[in-house]
Amino acid sequence: MCEPFIRNHQYNFIKKQAGILEQALRTIADPKVLESVRSGTEAKIVGLFPNAEDARKQMLEEVSALKTAEDFQKYMRTLEPYMAEFPQITKNQIQKLFPKNKKLKIPDLTMIDHRYVTYLGWNDAATNKLFIVYPLNGQFIGLEGRFTPTNKKSFCFLCNRYEELALFSAVSKKRPANASPDYYKAVGNYLCMNSHECNKNLTDTSALEKFIESVIGLTGYSYPV
Ligand SMILES: [Zn+2]
Repeated sequence: MCEPFIRNHQYNFIKKQAGILEQALRTIADPKVLESVRSGTEAKIVGLFPNAEDARKQMLEEVSALKTAEDFQKYMRTLEPYMAEFPQITKNQIQKLFPKNKKLKIPDLTMIDHRYVTYLGWNDAATNKLFIVYPLNGQFIGLEGRFTPTNKKSFCFLCNRYEELALFSAVSKKRPANASPDYYKAVGNYLCMNSHECNKNLTDTSALEKFIESVIGLTGYSYPV
């Protein structure tokens, strides 16, 4: 048995691609078209892990042999034990990521299934703030900003799903070299109201990483993973 290697958003990506293939098998009769969907699905899934060793690769490639709804369910279940958990972080470490928030409310980490987490996100209704913790390049990054519910549905910039959104705006810590002392720049984006749901939908981390970069640059508060 190999070590866990599939992160939450990668698992979601595989599930989504497998779902597209399953749908194609139900609706497309042309064997040539089906074959191309099949090989495309396999290539996308295997392509997520360019350095995967043979055993992992073989396991992922089995997607192209799936036929029935049961096969697809079984395939996803087979991958579950290989899901890599969100790295361990303590309340104390989280507190250190947000040094200006003396009364930081931190969710009960023991209640969270860390396999299904790409980023930790929670909001504090009392202060209208959203907090995000994300491991980037071996460091935990803490991101905080104003959280404003929009009471509307649209597309989340992180997971791209049509969900109820909130505006998340953070003050950028990046400063131009000749900035005046009162220089201020806010960076904002619309994301899911519910971080738990967002994590379930997330298939790619590039938007989140780009956003983090635009807020903190390389000098934000961080803590080794
Ligand atoms: Zn989302």
